[in-house]
Order: sequence, then structure tokens, then C-alpha cells
Amino acid sequence: MKSKHVTLLLIVTCIGASLAIFGTPSALLLKSFSRVINKVQTYSTPRNNEACLLVLKKLDADFRLQANFKNENGCKVEYAVRLARVGKLKIDKAPLLTCSMATQLVKFERESIQPIAKRIFGTEAKRLKNIGSYNCRSMRQYRGVLSQHAFANALDVSGFVFRDGQSISVKRDWKVDGPKSQFLRDITSAACNTFRVSVSPDGDANHWNHLHWDTGPYRSCR
Ligand SMILES: [Zn+2]
Repeated sequence: MKSKHVTLLLIVTCIGASLAIFGTPSALLLKSFSRVINKVQTYSTPRNNEACLLVLKKLDADFRLQANFKNENGCKVEYAVRLARVGKLKIDKAPLLTCSMATQLVKFERESIQPIAKRIFGTEAKRLKNIGSYNCRSMRQYRGVLSQHAFANALDVSGFVFRDGQSISVKRDWKVDGPKSQFLRDITSAACNTFRVSVSPDGDANHWNHLHWDTGPYRSCR
């Protein structure tokens, strides 16, 4: 399975490089590209299985199990949960997330969010605000290629609330120099190591009001 995964990733990389070198792809090429990418994505969640759920149950988190489902557009959610809390951080609206996203968030809260909050503000983060996780849709920049949101394998974070009452909003604070912006920038860098993809408002215009984190097959920090 592992070598199959690597081979598929190599194919995707080659196609991606060709598109980059030869410029605007034809509709036919783009369609083939989308098909291959969507195929690869079905191999993109190797850590989502019963074993992952057993690990998650032992971690400091509150969640409800979500039954597997898929639809005719290729969107598919397997071994996912409604995640309401990780460590000391409540997650607003208990978003639907794959087991791998949930376990990485537990780790991220403990190893990055709280230490960075303590260093910059001398307090703890107690709420994570988000504008969504599961959404059966394509990537905004590549129509036809499913987003990691189509697998509940991504979270869009819009802000935080701290124990002392102050709050941070990505939309409001990212571009204003100061400790709040520093917090968001440090969190974004740390997210590059814990997740596969970490995108901030500096990454592209679509992310002007949130941080995107996912554990999909690609690697991107921007
Ligand atoms: Zn997103």
C-alpha cells in the first residue's frame, strides 16, 4: 500500500510539474489531472481506521463518532468524529473531522497552541472558532479536484478566545502588527509541522479570513 501511495504521488507530481512547465492546460488534460488527483485522494487517509479511533479514545478530547458516508460526487467521510474539545480548548460547533485531523489537533493544542498562547499572552486559549470542516466541493484554484474539505480532512480556523477574555480574529488581526498577529503567525508556522497543509491569509486571497489546516496527501505551507 505504501509503495502504491508513493507511485500515485509521483504521478501527481509529474502531472503537476508538466502543467507548471507547459502553462495553461487543455480542458482534456485538466479533466485527466482531476481524475488522477481524486483517485490519489482516496488513498490519502491511511491513518483513518479503527486503530486511529482507538488511539483517539485514549486522548484528552471530547467527540461523537460519525457514521461513514459518501456521495456520487466522490466526497467521502470515513472514520470521522464531531470534535468538541481538545485538551483545554473547546471547538465551536463541534466540526466533522477525520480521525487523523482530530488526533493531530489534540497534539497541536498541547504542543503548539497552548505554549504559544502562554509565551505571548501569559494565558491559555480556551475556544477555537471555525468556519467549517466538511464541505463537498472542489479546490477553489483547481475546479474538478476535490478539496480536503470533501473528506472532512480539513479545518478552517477563524479565531481564538483566551481565558482572560480577549479574542483573536484572523480577519481583523492578521495584518495588524502586534501580539495578536504574532500569535496567528506563530500558530501558522507550527501548523506546517503538525498538519500536511497550513494556509494563512498570506497564502492566497481565498484565505483572507481564516487559517486552513489539513492532513491530505499534499504538502504546502503558505
Ligand atoms: Zn479550508
